Amino acid sequence: MKSLRRLALVAFTLVASTAGLAAKPVAGPKGGKILTTEAPHAEFFVEKDRKVTVTFYDKGLKPLPSATQVVSAIAEAKGGKVTLAFDPSDTRFVSKTALPPGDGYTVVVQIRETAGARPKNYRVLFHDETCGECKRAEYACVCDDAGGEHKHEEKKK
Ligand SMILES: [Zn+2]
Repeated sequence: MKSLRRLALVAFTLVASTAGLAAKPVAGPKGGKILTTEAPHAEFFVEKDRKVTVTFYDKGLKPLPSATQVVSAIAEAKGGKVTLAFDPSDTRFVSKTALPPGDGYTVVVQIRETAGARPKNYRVLFHDETCGECKRAEYACVCDDAGGEHKHEEKKK
């Protein structure tokens, strides 16, 4: 009887950990945030000069050459919305201008597969700090399940 219960517990733990894994955000190879749940993956990354780069990856997170995609972003900064246009380079898209000052605002990244395609929108909450736990940029933190409130937020309040 005892061993049967134990078996049930093991099975339950297995299921729980698999579910946990699925909810955990994928860590972007550059240290940015992976926006997508399925390949081709798109990574949002803020450079030191606050310009945004978007890099595409295949299933195994190998960088894909910039192809036909069209990328743009809208920074919903406290001072007003700012639209960023992107230039393709060989392996990524780089914004022509930097993110507006401040942080704690949403950046909506729009990706079109081709120029005429309908855009897909991805929202990123931009924080210009480093997470103390995973040492990644706060907006790309992989500590919590996606969508969960972050500890950093609570500390600030
Ligand atoms: Zn973290």
